[in-house]
Amino acid sequence: RSEELEVVQQPPYKKHAGDVGMVVEHYNARPEVGVKQRLDSPIIGLKNFNNWVKSVLITRFGHPALAASPSSQYSGPGRGRGGFPSGKVLDMGCGKGGDISKWVKARIKELLAVDIAAISVDQARQRWETLRGHQRFDASFAALDCYVEPLSKAFPPERLVQPIDVVSMQFCMHYAFETAQKARCMLDNVSRWLRPGGVFLGTIPNSDQLLERLDALPPDSEELSFGNSVYKIRFEDRHSRPLFGHRYYFYLEDAVENVPEYIVQWDNFVEMAAEFGLFPVYKEEFHEVFAEHQEHEEFGPLMVRMKVVDANGESAMDEDQWEAANIYIAFAFEKR
Ligand code: SAM
Repeated sequence: RSEELEVVQQPPYKKHAGDVGMVVEHYNARPEVGVKQRLDSPIIGLKNFNNWVKSVLITRFGHPALAASPSSQYSGPGRGRGGFPSGKVLDMGCGKGGDISKWVKARIKELLAVDIAAISVDQARQRWETLRGHQRFDASFAALDCYVEPLSKAFPPERLVQPIDVVSMQFCMHYAFETAQKARCMLDNVSRWLRPGGVFLGTIPNSDQLLERLDALPPDSEELSFGNSVYKIRFEDRHSRPLFGHRYYFYLEDAVENVPEYIVQWDNFVEMAAEFGLFPVYKEEFHEVFAEHQEHEEFGPLMVRMKVVDANGESAMDEDQWEAANIYIAFAFEKR
């Protein structure tokens, strides 16, 4: 009887076919590890650095947009960051909710969090449920293929009446570049409920760098792959450069196991984003983000607190992790 109940109560996690199925299975299957086990990760330095870059991006571009949110009833001093909670955030491709503490720090009023991997979404919701009273914001979690279906399918209409101030897509937007149709659907979801003046933030692999590395491979190399002890990228074709569906396989130690991903050519992305009223205000490689902010009065000490460097300024990353870190770029767009 109890067995029967367990089966009945199993949430109906949706199955996906093709490349998307591989992506979903991969992320759903990755266990949520506790803080202690996370510290044992062989790439903990890189993970901390990626988190620090996201914090810089969210603090620099997200907080001002949140503080300027018309959704706040209170318009006096102290509003937004550090003051009264304000602003509404959409975290698209939220994963297991790794950025929830960043939204706590941003003192947001409301979060919409969505991801195709239903098990990850459940874990994100659980993480939000553990927040203490004063940290809590209003939140709604949903499983959705955001590159195929509109957000209105995941959230009830009343959740979408109030416009969104910040949309964040961390390490996930490139999966939309499988087809032009998916990329358009993704951008429509980003832009449709984002208010004018609102901000779209994200982190994606640096296509220029990946393609340069592919071009630099010796002509007789058997496998079209490059990397080091921490990561590996393998292409299937040396010469073709399609704007969409340009697939490679990505491996990152203790994080991603040969998952199919797609090249995002920056100019193509910018051109398409403009159709949705989104215009770039920031784009930097991760190494640049580091160089730009390491001496900053807030982000420098944050780097020590987030264990990217120790108190003596010694990096927690070895050279291979440092190289892997620069596969990515951070960006911000403004809705006009
Ligand atoms: N943003 C989170 C973070 O920074 O920790 C998770 C990043 S994880 C590398 C990539 C996420 O993209 C996964 O959780 C995956 O399920 C999600 N994703 C991939 N394709 C998606 C889609 N079509 N719709 C929504 N989420 C998707």
